[in-house]
Amino acid sequence: MPRRVSIFGATGSIGQNTIDLIRRDPERYRVVALTGARNIAQLAADARALNAEIAVTAEERLLPELRAALAGSGVTAAAGQGALEEAAARPADWVMSAIIGAAGLAPGIAALRQGATLALANKESLVCAGALMLETARTHGARILPVDSEHSAVFQALQGEDMAAVERIILTASGGAFRDWPLERLAEATLEQATDHPNWDMGQRITIDSASMFNKAMEVIETREFFSIDPERIEVLVHPQSMIHALVGFNDGALMAHVGPPDMRHAIGYALHHPQREKLPVERLDLARIGCFEFRAPDDARWPALRLAREVMAEGGLCGAAFNAAKETALDGFISGALRFTEMAEVVERTLDVLSRQGGVIGAAMTLDNVAHVDHLARQVARAATQERTG
Ligand code: NAD
Ligand code: MG
Repeated sequence: MPRRVSIFGATGSIGQNTIDLIRRDPERYRVVALTGARNIAQLAADARALNAEIAVTAEERLLPELRAALAGSGVTAAAGQGALEEAAARPADWVMSAIIGAAGLAPGIAALRQGATLALANKESLVCAGALMLETARTHGARILPVDSEHSAVFQALQGEDMAAVERIILTASGGAFRDWPLERLAEATLEQATDHPNWDMGQRITIDSASMFNKAMEVIETREFFSIDPERIEVLVHPQSMIHALVGFNDGALMAHVGPPDMRHAIGYALHHPQREKLPVERLDLARIGCFEFRAPDDARWPALRLAREVMAEGGLCGAAFNAAKETALDGFISGALRFTEMAEVVERTLDVLSRQGGVIGAAMTLDNVAHVDHLARQVARAATQERTG
């Protein structure tokens, strides 16, 4: 029996890497749903090539274009938020969650509710609503497998281990585009400079988040949620080569490191084949040629996002949802030219300050509605804070 798979965010960087793996072995899979947003040509081409049941664009207005592109293929075309959730509710064995941003949360929850194994690249859903995701998985007999490279690395290092013996988890960070820039130049960093990652080839948004360390800040929170580990036991280590993806420290002093080339097909493939390991088309490292690995401590002055992540974890509740929404809004501000690079963290911090002072907002119960409400408020506050800086 072929495995039924769906890919949410199929047209993006993670989605395309997932499709690359599936296409190498087409008889093993039956593709249920593929989703995208604006890149209709890619979505339609992949849906045809993989003979998907349904292709969904998040953009309602692009439905006629998608229909036309799929004419005669037998693939159903659909559009909009409701269609995304309906597609996620279609029975599938394995679902890739690779939409970017908080928009990935509702389809992820719908996939868990139908009992699928959710391969989770969309870290935003754990940051916004970690407890809700894990609880939904538990009550529906579903499973979440991490796809973020660091979390996949930790997950692999923990196989056969007891969490009680874990002293710490160390996430590595390349340091992004501005690792070696003089601090005083950061405010002048341009979009083009921030979009140039030294090691990984990723979507634009996560590449900028790597330069600001908001990506690592999100990953620290993701680690706390996914592995239920105290924030004090999570460390960040700058490792410019991006070959050690994470380390787990045990109570006997041992550190288990996961080493591999910076290629997301490893983490995606691990989640696809779990609990087996199978051959993957990634480079085999020649360590003698690489010669040495470097490490340094992260610098809070350069990367205030890391401090903000600690504050978010200390506050708990819906603070993660506010943090993510403020970060997404600030990132939009930087991309559109309304904010300087260093102003993104200022806008996020200001948003968290404002919302923490509004009684009952952050402390409300974690439901999808409340998460959406906090997300909405945080975007409003962050937009106002952006305007203050522009105007
Ligand atoms: P991307 O921007 O390349 O692709 C995003 C996908 O989401 C596209 O298919 C796009 O059409 C879709 N999309 C965008 N906005 C949407 C919306 N509002 N509603 C529904 N769909 C929408 O992003 P990416 O780099 O592939 O990242 C995807 C996720 O994986 C993110 O959560 C990211 O943090 C995570 N991740 C990415 C990498 C990487 O190497 N790219 C590594 C680790 C984790
Ligand atoms: Mg990562």
